[in-house]
Amino acid sequence: MTTTPFKFELISQDGQARAGVFHTPHGDVPTPIFAPVGTQATVKSLTQRHLKELDAKLILANTYHLYLRPGDDLIAEMGGLHQFMSWDGPILTDSGGFQVFSLSKTRKVDEDGVTFKSHIDGSTHRFTPERSVEIQENLGADIIMAFDECAEPYNRQYSEAAMHRTHRWAERCYAAKKRSDQALFGIIQGGVFPDLREASAEYIAGLDFPGNAIGGLSVGETKEEMHAMLEIVNSILPQEKPRYLMGVGTPQDLVTCIKRGVDIFDCVLPTRLARHNAAMSDNGRMNMMNAQYTRDERPISETCTCYTCQHYSRAYIRHLIQANEMLSGTLLSIHNIHTLLDLACNLRKAILNQQYNEFAGKYLSNFTK
Ligand SMILES: [Zn+2]
Repeated sequence: MTTTPFKFELISQDGQARAGVFHTPHGDVPTPIFAPVGTQATVKSLTQRHLKELDAKLILANTYHLYLRPGDDLIAEMGGLHQFMSWDGPILTDSGGFQVFSLSKTRKVDEDGVTFKSHIDGSTHRFTPERSVEIQENLGADIIMAFDECAEPYNRQYSEAAMHRTHRWAERCYAAKKRSDQALFGIIQGGVFPDLREASAEYIAGLDFPGNAIGGLSVGETKEEMHAMLEIVNSILPQEKPRYLMGVGTPQDLVTCIKRGVDIFDCVLPTRLARHNAAMSDNGRMNMMNAQYTRDERPISETCTCYTCQHYSRAYIRHLIQANEMLSGTLLSIHNIHTLLDLACNLRKAILNQQYNEFAGKYLSNFTK
């Protein structure tokens, strides 16, 4: 008997907000969830022990970057991504599509695939839907993505063409997939155009992937447009499968998009802010370089339970930044990732308690910037 190692259980709903569990071969992912991003098979400045202590349940790695360096064949030789990076929890890889379309200055799209130049050394490479799946099978993540084309959100003609191509490529990815221990998610495109988003959600839902992703958002459109697209797409996507909003978000995004039925998020924001000396807090961002923190004995947040806030003062973190010490990036990353993981956890509890709107309203009203 063959049983799929993937199963999504929808446990509770409060309005459109959903609480569930996605079972994967490397463990259960409670949803809604935020996935920290480890672009190069490392969540910048953190060890996997830090991630375990933060109780991260799912992390993301980037196919484009790992294909170019060190190479997906090398990672396969080293036992796959879990073994290579010493992370035994669930991993998600993207398809490489987004990076090819955003990072590579020279790229040529045709019906079969994309030819692009490496941002590292300018060498020429080619991704097709089949090649993207093959690379992701070599990497060995639990959740893998169909190869898609992300258009500029306001260009109707391009959005429509890219959407149709994304649909044809989704079918090719589906057919190319060989491993049974990976869940392939389809991706919805369509820019900011309601009719395209509707058509794309219907098409991708019809292919019966074990999960569905929403791409091409948070790429320059307004929040109102993003929310409107989510409402359309999530009114069509099946209830019994997880929904992943790619590349989003901020704390506010988690609150407003979970409200509209999103289950999974990923974003480089917490570690990127940490590298720029910024701390996330429930009231907005704090620039830890500011002179006002020179003698501040308080932690970043007095209510935060993260390792950083339990052990270090604002004054110490500011000193590390001033002295160019690497530890500042680590301590801020721990705090920022904790902030998003903790928020997702609290939003999940609010859904289970049927208090989502109350919790969300209170949380959002605290933000000053
Ligand atoms: Zn903290």
